Amino acid sequence: MRLWTLHPKYLDPKGLVALWREALLAQAVLLGRTKGYRHHPQLHRFLACPRPAAALASYLAAVHTEATGRGYRFDATKIGRARLGARLPETRGQLLYEWAHLRQKLLLRDAGHWRAMAAVTAPSPHPLFRLTRGGVRPWEKTAAAPVVFRLRGRAGRPTLAGASRSMPLSIVHYNDPVLRKKGARVTAFDAGLAALGAEMTEAMHTAEGIGLAAQQIGRALQLCVVDLRAAKAESGWELDGARPPLELLMPLVLFNPAVTALPSAETLYEEGCLSFPGIRGEISRPDAIRVDFQDVHGVPHRLVCTGLFARCVQHEADHLNGVLFIDRMDRKTRAGIDDAVKALAKETRQPAAG
Ligand SMILES: [Zn+2]
Repeated sequence: MRLWTLHPKYLDPKGLVALWREALLAQAVLLGRTKGYRHHPQLHRFLACPRPAAALASYLAAVHTEATGRGYRFDATKIGRARLGARLPETRGQLLYEWAHLRQKLLLRDAGHWRAMAAVTAPSPHPLFRLTRGGVRPWEKTAAAPVVFRLRGRAGRPTLAGASRSMPLSIVHYNDPVLRKKGARVTAFDAGLAALGAEMTEAMHTAEGIGLAAQQIGRALQLCVVDLRAAKAESGWELDGARPPLELLMPLVLFNPAVTALPSAETLYEEGCLSFPGIRGEISRPDAIRVDFQDVHGVPHRLVCTGLFARCVQHEADHLNGVLFIDRMDRKTRAGIDDAVKALAKETRQPAAG
C-alpha cells in the first residue's frame, strides 16, 4: 500500500488504478470495515489527524478528479461523504523521497509516461497536503530512523540537511579536506540516502553541472549523480544490455560505482569541476569503460559507456576516491592553471565574510 504524497497527475495509468484501489482499502480500514492493516505505516498520518476518515475521503476525491480528467470511470459512490476542510502538513523531504521512488518505478514500468514528465523539476503534492520543511518521515517503510545529514555550511558551520533543511546543498571548493577523503561504501539503502541522491541531483542542476560526487557536498560516501541531457558532446551507452533513451536514464544516481577501463583509445578533452569554479584543463582518459554500480534500492547494474558519459563517470568516480581532475592533468596543463588553483585554495581556507 502506498498513499502517495505526490499529486496523482504524475502517476502512470497502472499507478493511478493501484492508488485508487489501495486508498479504498485504507478507507475500509479507517471505517472499521476490514480487519488488519490498521497499523500500516502508510495510514500513520491519517490516523494522526483528528478526522482520519474525512481526510481519506478528501484524498480519494482528488484521485477521482484526476481519473475523471483522464477519462477513467472510477466509482465516486465508494468515497465516504465526509470531507476535511483543511490540508494536512507534509514534509518536502518526504515528497522528494517519493519522487525518486516513483521515477525508479516508472523507469522499469512505463517509459512513455516517464518521458512525458521528464521536464518536471519541482513536483507538487497531492491536494490534501501542504508542504513544510523537513526530511523523510519516520513512518516511511525503512525500519531505521531517518538519516540526518550533517553538512558543512558555507562558513564552515555545521548545518542540518535532509531532516530540516531549508537551503539547497552547498558545494565545497578546493582545497576543502573532504575532497581528499575516500568515500565509505553504501550498504544500507534507506529512505534517507534516496533523499540525499535527490537533493544532490537538485544541487547539480542548480549549479548547471553534469555530475556531482558526495564529497562535493561534504559527505565522504560512494555516491554520485550524473545528468548529460543538456550536454552537447557525444556519448554511447548500454545499461544491463539495453540502450534506454538518455531522458529515461538521466539523472542517474550511482552508488558504489566500480569503473573498469575497456580496451579503447585514450581521448583528450577539456574538463571542469564544480569544486573548481572557472578552472578548466585538458585531461586524457580511456574512451570506453564498464561501471558496476547499485541503484537507489541497492540493485546492482552494469553500465558500458563511451565518450562524454564515460568521461563524466570517471571524473565522478575519481572524486569518490579522493582523486581530483587536477591530479590527472599533464605537467604543462597543471602548471598553466597553478596560480588559479592556489588562489582558490587560499579563498577556501579563509572563513566567509559576514
Ligand atoms: Zn568534479
